[in-house]
Amino acid sequence: MAVQFDAYRKHVSGTKPLKYTPTLELDIIFDALDGCEMNCPGCFVDTKNKFTVKDMQNIYDLTKEFKDQGIEANELFLGPTDIFDAANFDQLVDEPLFDKLIDQYAALTFTSTMLTPHEELKRRVDKLMNLMAPYGKRFELFVVIDIDKYIANDRSYLDGFDRNLEVIKNIDIRLKKQVNIFFIANFYPEMFDQISINELNMRIKNDYGSKFKINPSFARATNSRMIEKQSKMLSDLLQNQVDNTTIRNVFLNMVDIYFGGDTFHSLTYTEGRLFVAPFLYEFVPLKRNELEVKSREDGRFYMADVFDKKEELTIEQFNHAATLTHCSNCQFQPNCIARNHIQFMKLHNITSCVVPKPLYRTSFKASEY
Ligand code: SF4
Repeated sequence: MAVQFDAYRKHVSGTKPLKYTPTLELDIIFDALDGCEMNCPGCFVDTKNKFTVKDMQNIYDLTKEFKDQGIEANELFLGPTDIFDAANFDQLVDEPLFDKLIDQYAALTFTSTMLTPHEELKRRVDKLMNLMAPYGKRFELFVVIDIDKYIANDRSYLDGFDRNLEVIKNIDIRLKKQVNIFFIANFYPEMFDQISINELNMRIKNDYGSKFKINPSFARATNSRMIEKQSKMLSDLLQNQVDNTTIRNVFLNMVDIYFGGDTFHSLTYTEGRLFVAPFLYEFVPLKRNELEVKSREDGRFYMADVFDKKEELTIEQFNHAATLTHCSNCQFQPNCIARNHIQFMKLHNITSCVVPKPLYRTSFKASEY
């Protein structure tokens, strides 16, 4: 019997919204973790990361400026690798500024394959939980699951995986806070050859009491042709396999047209550089000059420069959308611009629509997940 996550069930049966908020919010994907030995299928993450304390200070200062101006610091996503397998886990957690930083945010989010050797994983979970316990943080963990091994019931994989999941089973009780645990896998073309999206969702719900999310890791790659091909493939799969009834079983932020829009300030910080994050299913951490918010002479990043960059991108996208046959008359064009999705298309010379537009919902909020 696989681990059942009560925390997830409590959350879905409650009325409290998880994500959607009408207030302005700041979300940062912070590349602070270095190293990963897991080689997950479909992964395009650059696992090497030269994190320094100066990076943490930069994020802290920028976050504080946003908060001082009344913008809610919503989610700090610690990436880009498996938190419990990162080579610099202890360095990061031991850094005195780390708890001050997480105290700024409503939620701390990270991913893990839960395949780190059991005792080491337990040590790391304990250390992180002890650090987080005093703070009123929402906590979200995306567990990366190997779909091929899962559906093949490969016990050499699942026994260790399930044993490690026991370590995090009751962390909501330990933390006395809302804890959301979701299962996630990188998209790859053969992913749904053996099982449909709906069957997979139902199986994970039954086995783990949780939801499954497709991670578009391909969107981080540099090969534009491959990105366009896989985007279309994923969009077609969703449109073919998901309908009005089953869509509520799919963890798909993209179909909520408000998610990632005007109220979100979503940024990526990596190795001393700050970027506006475009959206394709999720915020995509792209290190492209066109998206970069420059630091000033004092080496710091400022909110005004983030706003200027977003304004520049908005104008650029309106101009670009007007040149695209599919987008120029599309009702969702303002949403795609607000999400910087048109900019993503421009960066990769994508000229046709690669998103599951027929599934878009104008009254379906991510809070309903
Ligand atoms: S990308 Fe698709 S949904 Fe977005 S504006 Fe273009 S046609 Fe519309």
